[in-house]
Amino acid sequence: MTDSLHIVCPHCHTTNRVRSDQLASAPTCGSCKKALFTGHPAALDEAGFERHIGRNQIPVLVDFWAPWCGPCRAMAPAYEQAAAQLEPRVRLAKVDTEAVPSLGARFNIRSIPTLALFVNGREVARQPGAMAAADIVRWVQSNLR
Ligand code: ZN
Repeated sequence: MTDSLHIVCPHCHTTNRVRSDQLASAPTCGSCKKALFTGHPAALDEAGFERHIGRNQIPVLVDFWAPWCGPCRAMAPAYEQAAAQLEPRVRLAKVDTEAVPSLGARFNIRSIPTLALFVNGREVARQPGAMAAADIVRWVQSNLR
């Protein structure tokens, strides 16, 4: 299999071309040389969000959260675990709606935490409320079938 996918680096936001059969073999960024998949969600500002949503050729799961939100903080470890399980098939990202209110407004986020799943730049599913790691993984997989 020689198909390749565009993968945006979570560190420097450079778009990398990665062969699909190399996705699980710890690919590194051609620009900053860091790992393209770290098992941790990528924290995105507005520019980073545009890059990751617009250019990634893998689905992107976004956690809209805020530091003052107790359920958001409670879900953070579960989201980390989900990242470890879903990468490299899915990119997990976090948007702090307090630091980047424009994104929360643009996507009409009414409550946090809210998870939104993007495929090829389009939102395909949304789920408000905190979830356990296994539920996050199951929800993503059910929406990618
Ligand atoms: Zn990089």
